[in-house]
Amino acid sequence: MPSNHYDIIVIGSGPGGASLAHRLAPTGKRILMLERGDYLPRSLVNLDAKSVFVDAIYQTKDTWFGANGEAFHPGLHYFVGGNSKVYGAALFRMRERDFGALQHADGVSPAWPLGYDVFEPYYAEAERLFHVHGQRGEDPTEPWSSGPYPYPPVSNEPRIEELSANLTKEGLHPFHLPMGVLMDEKDGKVTPTSPCFRYDAFDGFPCPFNGKSDSQVMCVDPTIAAWPNFTLLTDAYVSKLETDASGRSVSQVHVTRDGQEERYAADIVVVACGALSSALLLLRSASDKHPKGLANGSDQVGRNYMRHNMSVLMALMKEPNPTVFQKTLAVSDFYFGAPDWDYPLGLIQMCGKTHAAQIRGEELPEWLEWLPKMPFERMAEHSMDFWLQSEDLPRPENRISYNGDRVVLDIHEGNLEAAARLKQKLRDLLNAIGAHPVLLGRGSTSARTSRSAAPPTRPARHDLAPIRRPPCSISIARRTSWTTSISRTRASSPPLAR
Ligand SMILES: Cc1cc2nc3c(=O)[nH]c(=O)nc-3n(C[C@H](O)[C@H](O)[C@H](O)COP(=O)(O)OP(=O)(O)OC[C@H]3O[C@@H](n4cnc5c(N)ncnc54)[C@H](O)[C@@H]3O)c2cc1C
Repeated sequence: MPSNHYDIIVIGSGPGGASLAHRLAPTGKRILMLERGDYLPRSLVNLDAKSVFVDAIYQTKDTWFGANGEAFHPGLHYFVGGNSKVYGAALFRMRERDFGALQHADGVSPAWPLGYDVFEPYYAEAERLFHVHGQRGEDPTEPWSSGPYPYPPVSNEPRIEELSANLTKEGLHPFHLPMGVLMDEKDGKVTPTSPCFRYDAFDGFPCPFNGKSDSQVMCVDPTIAAWPNFTLLTDAYVSKLETDASGRSVSQVHVTRDGQEERYAADIVVVACGALSSALLLLRSASDKHPKGLANGSDQVGRNYMRHNMSVLMALMKEPNPTVFQKTLAVSDFYFGAPDWDYPLGLIQMCGKTHAAQIRGEELPEWLEWLPKMPFERMAEHSMDFWLQSEDLPRPENRISYNGDRVVLDIHEGNLEAAARLKQKLRDLLNAIGAHPVLLGRGSTSARTSRSAAPPTRPARHDLAPIRRPPCSISIARRTSWTTSISRTRASSPPLAR
């Protein structure tokens, strides 16, 4: 058998492809992983907010286009480990009801063909693989599980513990955020040998200490170390899948590596390039047998693209907030609705602490130009930062496709009222607990693109960075959230912290 023939080829080393390869390697099958990116450099620059968020040094420079012709850089990161190199590592299971038909304000989120029960054992395995810390029984919407989280919850720092107690007094059920992080704690303190040591550059930053449970650290590296039957080729861009004469099986995988064209073949070829890039690969693989692209007889490939409607809200508090590792708490009480709203609103979670460079570098609205009176460093000192995530709905017109060589991503936003109401809930809550916050919409690359770490990975909902802006990964969705937030803040907020 030629040496370029494998039992299995896995295209893409993100959480999807890497966890699969990790699971299959012990079978002894010859497995080839093809990854278009290289290893992300381990450098202290990875802790620098300006480099990571404002200069976006790790975001792809690919240029895509909106339906109106607007050019932007997609918020994608082509590295071993895929987007998990920069993800926030909040690793939730989808709720049982998420698998059924769920009525939202703007329409129905259709039922999955399989229920939560089928996936539960895989969630459990994925939580072990990705070293998830958490506490069962706290989150009022969590689905049933076959066992406890494999690791104890990451402890709250005092200000977050205080916030948790105050939210509880308001009748909510704050809980420890399930986190994929290599953090060992004893008596609330990080142990001297723990890879993650509670630094403030976590959410959206690639970890130079390998303390984040990304798929390079948790899956690819251990598989390479343990299994000689597993081979990883980096800088290996799969340009096309070619089928045999019958059109029924993939006969050749076309790869561009170091400027050279190469061909590989396998009994099984797994496309795990992420939701957008997987669709693009299938569309690029059009042939006489498959004129609309591979596996696209239905014309559904690339359609029904879903994101979350997300926003980062920075509450400027009266008192400084000295929290370092802030991403430890979440509130799901409004996930399926609220007393004044019958439809799902979404999830509130803490996000990484805002850095001054992020506030300065991200596009602040004009009316905030007077802000130098409160320097960005002081704003960051006083900030408490929240990540709000509401659901989007599948629509066939939301679609990634090719127009000639151009990648076109057509997005029509929807279900925005849920996002706006969730924001208002947070504002009301913070006021009720006497925090007197001023909520400022803030963009960052801490853009979650799926709410589930474990299979099934929902379609990725990547952020998009229009080229005319500083090249940080601010999404069209968040641009809307941002706009919404500006107008709300304009209408109702007092200037800064009182
Ligand atoms: C900033 C940010 C924060 C996030 N935070 C969270 C979070 O807190 N919790 C959560 O659950 N999710 C989060 N996500 C989403 C999560 O990262 C994704 O859902 C997850 O990475 C998807 O995994 P995947 O394997 O499907 O794809 P990806 O991670 O996108 O990996 C795909 C891989 O395929 C490679 N590839 C693409 N095309 C080709 C090709 N033609 N040839 C060869 N290789 C190719 C890419 O380089 C990449 O390595 C976040 C994402 C981002 C960007």
